[in-house]
Order: sequence, then C-alpha cells, then structure tokens
Amino acid sequence: MISLKKPELECSDKDCPFHGELAVRGRTLEATVVSARMQKSCIVQLSYLRYDKKYERYARMRSRIPAHSTPCIPVKVGDVVRIAECRPLSKTKSFVVVEMIKEA
Ligand SMILES: [Zn+2]
Repeated sequence: MISLKKPELECSDKDCPFHGELAVRGRTLEATVVSARMQKSCIVQLSYLRYDKKYERYARMRSRIPAHSTPCIPVKVGDVVRIAECRPLSKTKSFVVVEMIKEA
C-alpha cells in the first residue's frame, strides 16, 4: 500500500481510495490534468523523453491516461496531480487521482 495524505474534503464516492472501498496498488505517476469536463473523470497527460536510436537524440513523448477523479480532490485543467493504479473502473479507467501536487 502506498502511503497517502488524506484530503481535507469529505466525499461519499464508493470508488474513493480514502472514503470508499477502492484499493490502490501498482504504479503511481505524476501527471498534468488536460481535461476535467467529465463528472468523475479527468484526462491526465504524461510528458517524458525517449531515446531515439536512429537519430541519436531524445524525442519528447506524451501519453494520455483517463483517471477517476473523486469529489474530495477537485481538479482543474493545468493541475499537477498524483495518480495511482487501481482495478479497472470502466473500459478505459484504471487510475485514480490520489493527491494534488500543484494547482494551476
Ligand atoms: Zn473521497
């Protein structure tokens, strides 16, 4: 189990790792919120460098991950958050926002 700070707000979401019954395990990542227009989901984007052998340079890569967003950690576009892997919550969601790192 990853040690996490409990958010100040309360919520009644059953898929909340703090106030519900959602277990988190696996990977934790830091990413930037790029879309928060869904009710309990957000899209986060990861930026990283990958070495390109052919051109002997680093290429900037990015990947987008849909994450579950609970009411106790409100997110907006531009926020840097920590997400943790959990069981699949829908067809594409298997991560949940667990911490606000930097607000936009
Ligand atoms: Zn909660």
